[in-house]
Amino acid sequence: MTEIFGVIGYPVKHSLSPVMHNSAFRHLEYDGIYLSFEVRGEDLEVALMGAKALGVRGLNVTIPHKERAAWFFEQDRAVEEIGACNTIDLRNGRCYNTDVFGIRKALEAAGIETRGLRVLVVGAGGAGRACIYALRDDNDVFITNRTAKRGIEVARRFGVEFLRTGDLEERSFDLVVNATPLGMRGFPTELPIPEFVLRSRPAVFDMVYNPPETPLIRKAREYGCRVASGVDMLVYQGAKAFEIFTGLEAPVEIMKKAVLSELKKLA
Ligand code: NAP
Repeated sequence: MTEIFGVIGYPVKHSLSPVMHNSAFRHLEYDGIYLSFEVRGEDLEVALMGAKALGVRGLNVTIPHKERAAWFFEQDRAVEEIGACNTIDLRNGRCYNTDVFGIRKALEAAGIETRGLRVLVVGAGGAGRACIYALRDDNDVFITNRTAKRGIEVARRFGVEFLRTGDLEERSFDLVVNATPLGMRGFPTELPIPEFVLRSRPAVFDMVYNPPETPLIRKAREYGCRVASGVDMLVYQGAKAFEIFTGLEAPVEIMKKAVLSELKKLA
């Protein structure tokens, strides 16, 4: 019987997850289909329970449901601490945050060794929190955020330091991570950090994947910074979800090719 998977969000029509997972199913000749489900906030609980009752095997979760979806399932440690999930195994009722794996692998793919670094995370949403969780044990992590109150709350929760824009001039960082939508197609193209932060040539990781070459990545290259890509994060978080869903090793290169070809069509 064909196994059903999907991504649940609102809006969800631009999600690259169906293309990525279906390419993996085809490649492995796995009898599965991956769909997108556009679900409004007020319908979330009934949609999740309905999906389980209908025999849907696994779901990815995207904006704006990553926080609330976790309430209905058993949470692994990362989900508990981050307060957001992006993958649900509906067979065992557990939810996971595979962004953490995606972040670590994207940095590794760029040759960025994440130990003993001074890291600036820009953004306090689910992606920013996943990044702090992924890096705080082995690095000195700082956070900055448009809304200071939210940034301070997140900094307290993770035991890291909150910095205002005005504090950045006196500091230098080894790695800067953009976890805001700035630079994403349809969002403002302004840099998420003041340009002077790049002068000390930190490595730069932009989680935005559409377009793959963001204004921040372009500017970072001009300064000679090493860069890590949001596309790699997307592919690796998807690969980890694929393994949770199917128990099979994900064909990462096939998934990445499918994502890049879809992004080309959107350009
Ligand atoms: P989220 O929970 O909505 O958080 C968004 C964050 O961005 C908040 O800190 C918000 O600040 C800040 N922000 C929003 N608009 C801004 C603006 N105009 N100027 C400055 N800051 C702004 O979203 P999320 O889930 O954390 O995702 C954040 C970004 O990461 C998205 O662009 C998403 O595409 C990307 N992402 C990529 C991957 C991947 O696989 N590559 C995975 C997850 C997320 P306030 O607190 O002030 O609102």
